[in-house]
Amino acid sequence: MSRLVMKFGGTSVADLFRIQNAARHVKREVEAGHQVAVVVSAMSGKTNELVGWCREASRLHDTREYDSIVASGEQVTAGLLSLALQKLGVDARSWLGWQIPILTDGAHGAARIVDINGDVLIERLEKGQVAVVAGFQGIGPDGRISTLGRGGSDTSAVAIAAAIGADRCDIYTDVDGVYTTDPRIVPGATRLDRVSFEEMLEMASLGAKVLQVRSVELAMVHGVRVFVRSSFADPDSELLVKSNTPPGTLICDEDEIVEQQVVTGIAYSRDEAQISLRDVADQPGIAASVFGPLADANINVDMIVQNVSEDGSTTDITFTVPSADYERSLEVLEAERDVIRYKNVQGSTDVVKVSVIGMGMRSHAGVAGGAFRAMADKGINIRAITTSEIKISILIDAAYTELAVRTLHSLYDLDCKQDS
Ligand code: ADP
Ligand code: ASP
Ligand code: MG
Repeated sequence: MSRLVMKFGGTSVADLFRIQNAARHVKREVEAGHQVAVVVSAMSGKTNELVGWCREASRLHDTREYDSIVASGEQVTAGLLSLALQKLGVDARSWLGWQIPILTDGAHGAARIVDINGDVLIERLEKGQVAVVAGFQGIGPDGRISTLGRGGSDTSAVAIAAAIGADRCDIYTDVDGVYTTDPRIVPGATRLDRVSFEEMLEMASLGAKVLQVRSVELAMVHGVRVFVRSSFADPDSELLVKSNTPPGTLICDEDEIVEQQVVTGIAYSRDEAQISLRDVADQPGIAASVFGPLADANINVDMIVQNVSEDGSTTDITFTVPSADYERSLEVLEAERDVIRYKNVQGSTDVVKVSVIGMGMRSHAGVAGGAFRAMADKGINIRAITTSEIKISILIDAAYTELAVRTLHSLYDLDCKQDS
């Protein structure tokens, strides 16, 4: 017998029919003899609606009230899934974050889990009861409800898996695994059987929203085996009932992956804005005067391009910030205008960051060169570039997103191989 966490995302609990379907998946695992803790998201679209209501009620809302409002979606699905399980004859009860408790820090709206005492859940699991936990939420040091940032139910699931010593954390979603790129953009993307924690971390950070970044970090730190799979498969199909290897993607240690590709996947993020400062003095201390105040305002700068001026007088600095922080960044730069002494500032939110990710890049030269050539052949202008050991990111016009992703996907031979 093993202990499992099963997490169901928004589309997997979108209505009563889908909740009943999720209950059948849970029942299958219970009947196979496993102890099961379930983590649920809100019904798809619900959290967006709740966030919208907060903004409408007050633009500068109190984040503690925001949390109390947006956490409510998960309370409903946890209760409904428990009812659906009981109806199938499975002993189950719902748990809210504060009842376990899932303790977080005080950063309302984007809190981090600091501790989960798994004892109460383990006690119930050992008695054969299924625990249905509301994802995305915890309780802060102020004793008030906190939420973990958008997509945070993945993190709830992995954290609970670590706390109860689960053998695996299954992430049930609307795709049957992690693909070489977002299958919504490239229908011919290939499902990956295994992805290393490091690569998944890069893919998630660079825009592959299939897992929240923090959940991958936690899985890596605590060695939780995460398996991404579909809730849309028939819960009682022979393949799922009898086989030990259902379709899906295992996120695991690098050394569990036998065949390492040079490039594992392509990710993209529309959540970027570009800012260019023109005619900035080319002298020591200027970069600090630009990026210091942005850091003080809690704005994360990502890509940075600065040229060396020919005559040592002035240069341009281009960088990116999250699109949500674009206006605020411009305000910070305006306030520092007299210190930085730039001539003018230009910006755009109409940009996208496309990234090529793969552990194999550590030992293979020429990956970046190939990507740049392919973009040039398609007439796509690259505005900025960053690289690390296992990824290359380029910033391009948003209009070229699909073309760039598809082109790179084919370039690195990631398109699904159909059996002929
Ligand atoms: P859930 O509601 O279950 O949490 P999400 O919408 O957060 O689901 O994540 C699943 C979605 O992630 C998929 O529908 C898919 O469009 C998107 N996605 C982006 N990149 C990838 C990728 N590389 N592999 C699989 N899915 C991806
Ligand atoms: N319901 C939350 C959101 O939409 C958390 C999640 O789905 O993971 O962000
Ligand atoms: Mg999600």
